[in-house]
This record gives sequence, structure tokens and C-alpha cells, in this order.
Amino acid sequence: MSKNIFVTREIPDIGIKILKEKGYTVDVNPKSSIPTQKQIISFLRKKQYDAVLTLLTDKIDKKVFEVAPSVKLYVNYATGFDNIDIAAAKERGIVVANAPADMSSEAVAEHTIALMLCLATRIVEGDKFVRAGKYKGWSPMNFIGTDVAGKTLGLIGTGRIGGRVAKYAKNLGMKILYTDVNRNEQIEKELDATYCDSPDTLLPQVDFVSLHVPLLDSTRHLINEKHLKMMKPTAFLVNTSRGPVVDEKALEFALKNRVIAGAGLDVFEFEPKISSGLKKLQNIVLTPHIASASNETRDQMAEIAANNIVDFFEGRTPRNIVNS
Ligand code: NAD
Repeated sequence: MSKNIFVTREIPDIGIKILKEKGYTVDVNPKSSIPTQKQIISFLRKKQYDAVLTLLTDKIDKKVFEVAPSVKLYVNYATGFDNIDIAAAKERGIVVANAPADMSSEAVAEHTIALMLCLATRIVEGDKFVRAGKYKGWSPMNFIGTDVAGKTLGLIGTGRIGGRVAKYAKNLGMKILYTDVNRNEQIEKELDATYCDSPDTLLPQVDFVSLHVPLLDSTRHLINEKHLKMMKPTAFLVNTSRGPVVDEKALEFALKNRVIAGAGLDVFEFEPKISSGLKKLQNIVLTPHIASASNETRDQMAEIAANNIVDFFEGRTPRNIVNS
């Protein structure tokens, strides 16, 4: 049966093709900028849509549900789904699914390690220095960094992404400590990772901290002023999870005052806004939420998202429902 699908922004063709091959009418928002909630609502008013393929920048809550009662399924083109009010969807019998691609976990884990290595080896600072014409020849004291081999990594959250980061870090010769609401026996057995019962126990012991928790009420500002003060002054913080997991104001203070040595961020508390104070700091590496932006990952995410829609309309349970 024909279905109307709205896609809030362009995604890789492979996903659109899967939907069109099923005979569905697929309307893709032609604008490349992030749509406001008002714009999404105005699109949804134009037609009776059956499903919406959303992005993590789309705020989907009861205001959207109310104007589009025909939409029975929202599929988020992302692993996270904190942009969708899943409880309000459930109340209305609306199904929400995400697109947690295996490739995405790999890509984010690789990006996390890249940020750690950038901080340790000061690659970004060195690049800026060379481009500014300041390099006048080898110097024994230029951009002294730190080794990662032999250092300790503290992971907060060891699900799909955190578990992979643990594996890569182990291969780099790091010792792994972790904390999670669930014990991860696999990384304990295979990577000799040591469990800590809380961030408070983990933070004072590690040289790098990497965050891999979803954004929940319990993880908002999980890294705050108190926690930053518990870290070693030589330690680095890496966040590729969600911006609000870190209190960004407290982080800016900690970096400015060398409470910690540096930070690598792919996500920001008030995305896409980044405070000018943070951008001025030298001891920080910033990337624009691109940790999962590999060709392979984005194609796989589009396939998963589209297949969730097909499964739903062909009477199968979509594999990635997040509000059942
Ligand atoms: P996952 O669900 O596999 O793992 C999350 C882990 O966090 C789980 O082991 C869970 O038990 C743990 N956890 C939950 N609450 C906790 C708490 N209060 N304290 C400690 N541990 C807690 O998720 P994942 O696939 O590893 O992804 C993690 C997050 O990474 C996603 O939710 C998403 O927000 C983010 N992400 C970011 C990008 C990016 O582009 N930067 C891409 C993909 C995912």
C-alpha cells in the first residue's frame, strides 16, 4: 500500500531509494539548513504523512504530534534520540525508532581516539603554527606533548561505542578503567578493564576521560565543576556523546585555569552555539559533530532508518524501536 514519508533533510540516496522502491511517496525537505520546529510543522500540515524520518537536530514533541495525527512512526537518523519526546509519543501510540549503525559505533570510536591523539600530540596547534609561518626549524622544546601508551583511559559508558574505544585504547598500550550503570564483563575479561563504581572513583585515577553515555536526566551535567576538580591537572577530557553531558561553563573555567590539561569536543551543550571563550582556548580541539561522518556509516544509517520504515509498514516489528 502506498505511504507518504517525509524526510526532514537530505540523507544519503541509498535510504531514499529503498523507500521509493517500495512505492512510497518520499518528500525530502529541499533546504540544506536545519529546519526549525515551525518549519517541520508547516511541512507536516501540507500532506497526510504516515511516517517521518527525522534528524537529531529536529525537536519532535507533542506540538509536532498534534498537527500530524496520521504519522504513526518517527525514525531518527541517529543513534541518540534525545531530540524526540519518546514518552509523549508512546502516550499517543506513536512508534519511535533510531538508526544505530555498527559502522557508526566504529566511526565514533575512531574519532574519539583521533581526538585523544590530537590532544596528546598537539597536532592541531602544530598545524596552526606552521600555517601562520611561525616554524623556523626544529626545536627540542617545541610543542611538547604526551604519550598515550602506558597511560590510563577512564571510560564513562561502555556500550557499543565505549566498548570499541576500550579495544582501540588497549591496542595503543593504555590501561582501561570504566564506569557504567551496567557491568561490562566482556571488556573486563578481554581487555583487563577495571570497573569503578562511580565517576568519583574513576576520575582521580585516569589520564584521559572519554564520555559515551546517552543524554538522559541522569547524565545531564554528569561532568561538572566538582568532577573536573577531581581529575588530574595533566588529564584530558574527550566528549563525543552529547554536549549537555558536560557543564560547558565549568569546563571553560577548568581549561582556562588549567584545572585539567585539555579537552576534545565533538558535541556542545548549546549546539550549534559554542562560547567564544571556549573557541579562544589553545588547549582544546573542536570538531563540528562529525564523529559518525564517514561515507560507510552514513550510508548504513540511511539503510537502517529506511528498513525500519519498511518493516513497520509491512507488518514486521522494526528492529530499533526505542519507546516500546
Ligand atoms: P549504548 O546505548 O550502546 O551505550 C551507552 C552506555 O551508557 C550503556 O552501556 C549504558 O549502560 C551507559 N549508561 C547509561 N546511563 C549511564 C549513567 N548514568 N552512568 C554511566 N553509564 C550510563 O550507546 P552508544 O551507541 O555507545 O552511544 C552512546 C552515545 O553516543 C549515544 O547515546 C549518542 O548520544 C552518542 N553518539 C554521538 C555521535 C556523534 O556523532 N558524536 C554518534 C553516535 C552516537
